[in-house]
Amino acid sequence: MEKKNIWETYNARQLRELEKLNKEYRDFLDNGKTERECIDTIVNTIEKEGYEELENLIKEGRKLKKGDKVYSVWMNKSIAMFRIGDRPLEEGMNILGAHIDSPRLDVKQNPLYEDGGFAYLDTHYYGGVKKYQWVTIPLALHGVIVKKDGTTVEVNIGENEDDPVFFVSDLLIHLAGEQLEKKASKVIEGEALDLIVGSKPIVIDKKNKKEDADAKDKVKEGVKAGVLEILKNSYGVEEEDFISAELEIVPAGRAREAGLDRSMILAYGQDDRVCAFTSMRAMLDVNASERTACCILVDKEEIGSVGATGMQSRFFENAVAELMNLCGEYDELSLRRCLAHSCMLSSDVSAGYDPAYASCFEKKNASFLGSGMVFNKFTGSRGKSGSNDANAEYLAHLRSVLDAKKVGYQTAELGKVDVGGGGTIAYILALYGMNVVDSGVAVLNMHAPWEATSKADVYEAYRGYMAFVEGAAM
Ligand code: MN
Ligand code: MN
Repeated sequence: MEKKNIWETYNARQLRELEKLNKEYRDFLDNGKTERECIDTIVNTIEKEGYEELENLIKEGRKLKKGDKVYSVWMNKSIAMFRIGDRPLEEGMNILGAHIDSPRLDVKQNPLYEDGGFAYLDTHYYGGVKKYQWVTIPLALHGVIVKKDGTTVEVNIGENEDDPVFFVSDLLIHLAGEQLEKKASKVIEGEALDLIVGSKPIVIDKKNKKEDADAKDKVKEGVKAGVLEILKNSYGVEEEDFISAELEIVPAGRAREAGLDRSMILAYGQDDRVCAFTSMRAMLDVNASERTACCILVDKEEIGSVGATGMQSRFFENAVAELMNLCGEYDELSLRRCLAHSCMLSSDVSAGYDPAYASCFEKKNASFLGSGMVFNKFTGSRGKSGSNDANAEYLAHLRSVLDAKKVGYQTAELGKVDVGGGGTIAYILALYGMNVVDSGVAVLNMHAPWEATSKADVYEAYRGYMAFVEGAAM
């Protein structure tokens, strides 16, 4: 089977639509560089299109009917959206799922220290990163600091042109002989990924020096004291407030078009916001569908889908139960039937074929940038271990749904057999007995600070999700 280059199939109207969608996608990436920021962006977008918060409807005891659009956010990091269809819920939903967390550096709970004239924030990386990729690049600080009185301070430093940025240092080449002999996994150690956040000691007014009880300490660690003073003045926070903070360090800067032909997007966090954005957009653009449409965008995939906001949480099941209740359809058996009869596209990025590393791919079963939406019948590693292996019957059904709408798609495996592997959220939803298949968008340099996708694949994924939501039913 030949892989097509989808670009060759577009007419002028499609190219305009593609560019418009990708512009919106870049804005989405710029506005949502953490899972919390993604949720804010998504809620702002979908409320404008008539989505209402489930929790409010529960309080009002409002009944839901077909065509109603509702969403439920969990702990500001995960969301489930529903659009009620014509058919009873127990006949199942068409579910789009993706994750909105991305690899990054997280700030530790006791992070701030001074050494050699620099103030540092100590970090612990989140998700799978090649640590050597995170040094010497401009980094931004995003997140929240929650104070003891419950007030939340939002932090976002490093994205505006006149914002300061931060960085992790690396050893100069002139002294790196020994370092360069190390394995790539050890060249930069996890504990060396500390963020430089200052180098200017606080200036203490000499006149008041004697009266200031802390003056001696401040002189000893003047740079750290200077950083603390800035935090106090800008955000009203103390050093202890780091205990209840979630601060994420991400590459600074906006999503960019890449290539002379502007055919690609180079940006941080495309795993998996490329699938999150296109799934959300498809949810908003579908016309009335027979079955209830659902879109779940979750946190913590990169560390095993754990925690209250990860896919393994009961948050989603609970939201479906509440939804059925407001539709007057809830009982335990109906809920189980609804989940078992649902169809899902578990969307995540796929490893795009990279000619520079051709030996890691099996070309016939690799995904190519520009060849359309990707389907992975299975993921996993070493004999498909840990994968959700979708049913042939389901894939056949999806082929007919996608072909009817002329969606460009390709099938792939995550690299050559026994070279590596990976997992997604697919197996978790499959526990309900529903049909689930891995799908998504091919990415080059996945998990790097800057990841690349093809605009054509972003467009085809969006079209594929629309076709799925409107047409799937098994
Ligand atoms: Mn992913
Ligand atoms: Mn990932």
